[in-house]
Amino acid sequence: MRHPMFTYDEAFTNAIFEYCRDRLEHDAPLDFGMHSPVPLPSLEGMITDAGRNASQTLEFFRDALAQHVVSIDSPGFLAFIPNAPTKNSLLFDMVVACSGLNGTSWLESAGVVVAENQALEFLAERAGMPRGSGGVFVSGGSIGNLSALTVGRDVGRTLRPDVAPHELRFAISADAHSSIGKALHVLGIHPLLVEPDDHRFTRANLERALAADPRPETVIGVVATSGTTNAGIVDDLEGLGSFARERDLWFHVDGAYGGAALFSSQRDLLSGIRHADSFIVDPHKWLFGPLDCCALVYRNPTIARTHLAQQAGYLDILHGGDDEHYDWNPSDFAIQLSRRARGLPFWFSLVTYGVHAYESATQIAIDLATRAADRIAATPGLELVRPAGLSIVLFRRVGWSEEQYREWSEKLLRQQVAFVTPTRWEGEMVARLAFLHPDTTDELVGEILDSMFA
Ligand SMILES: *Cc1c(COP(=O)(O)O)cnc(C)c1O
Repeated sequence: MRHPMFTYDEAFTNAIFEYCRDRLEHDAPLDFGMHSPVPLPSLEGMITDAGRNASQTLEFFRDALAQHVVSIDSPGFLAFIPNAPTKNSLLFDMVVACSGLNGTSWLESAGVVVAENQALEFLAERAGMPRGSGGVFVSGGSIGNLSALTVGRDVGRTLRPDVAPHELRFAISADAHSSIGKALHVLGIHPLLVEPDDHRFTRANLERALAADPRPETVIGVVATSGTTNAGIVDDLEGLGSFARERDLWFHVDGAYGGAALFSSQRDLLSGIRHADSFIVDPHKWLFGPLDCCALVYRNPTIARTHLAQQAGYLDILHGGDDEHYDWNPSDFAIQLSRRARGLPFWFSLVTYGVHAYESATQIAIDLATRAADRIAATPGLELVRPAGLSIVLFRRVGWSEEQYREWSEKLLRQQVAFVTPTRWEGEMVARLAFLHPDTTDELVGEILDSMFA
């Protein structure tokens, strides 16, 4: 007699597959998030000693909870950074969920680690990083940045033994992602906050900041962004990267969103990533994988392992075997230990659709942004704030108050047209479109822009 929690229930299993099939078959309904017309149900009393009927609980989720979530994979989701997982990545995510894969060590999961590593090597090669680069898939850009900067800090400490650890700094742009500031906060490292040129961090900015700084020797690394989240601006990766090489500074490139432009016509903007000591790109953003997944790649993974591998009696068996790959434990390259094989859905999708499909899907988002920008520039009453950056467009409706932007955003969602949220740019609230899903249409963009005059 099996334990009730481990008993196969054919009918309920079918109900779950039916639900998933329905989500896979149709475009995701936009749904409502916090702006749902009906109130969130109370969950009081849901958790009971005896448990509830599974099919009814699934129905409750479907009918009462799911519509309170804006589907991030809807082609009408143009806020923040959308997530548009390919069909095969979603399907394979279900395989990962049902397979008991623990992507922690070579000992347990060699068959998974080789596949994930193939995907990481592919990304590293695209980025122009040398053979032997490698790392691990982690939960997201924030953890990727934190892990990479931890290694950068530790390397900096050994290179600058004369500087007190709490005085070491990373040079970052005022436009760096908030997760960079948070990572430095966790690490107890101060930023040298550099004011970029029109939001783009360049070698000249850095040189000027260091020349004006009383203690430039305390700077041990540089963080550049390949595609800012707010505006899609790519820093001067070539200049910053070559400067970092010359000065023995750790060079980290945060490409969580825009690293995927390596697959687009704008890849030349990203060629300076080849200088990176560490680089991240989120497959759960513009590489069409499911949440949550970030590829973290080090130029020299051995250094990362030296600083990040966890040591414990019960883990000794993971290290130091005869197999030449035996030591490739994904857990050694970031700050987590146990990990879902979260790179596998991306790997499966890349293998099955092929590189050209990725290139075309990435390019479509850039082309959508370019055409949206052209249309905005040609519409009286609308103004581009700046040219489209990768797949992001910032623009204003001339004369609008902040309240009007908020009402417009809420109304588009209530009417289930699109999810578009305003952003702040140089202190001003402006409208922002972030393209990603290849099935977003120019017609939808037209409808969104027209709605500003309704
Ligand atoms: C999204 C983003 C991050 C954070 O990534 P998460 O996956 O959300 O943790 C970091 N940097 C940039 C540039 C981003 O766009």
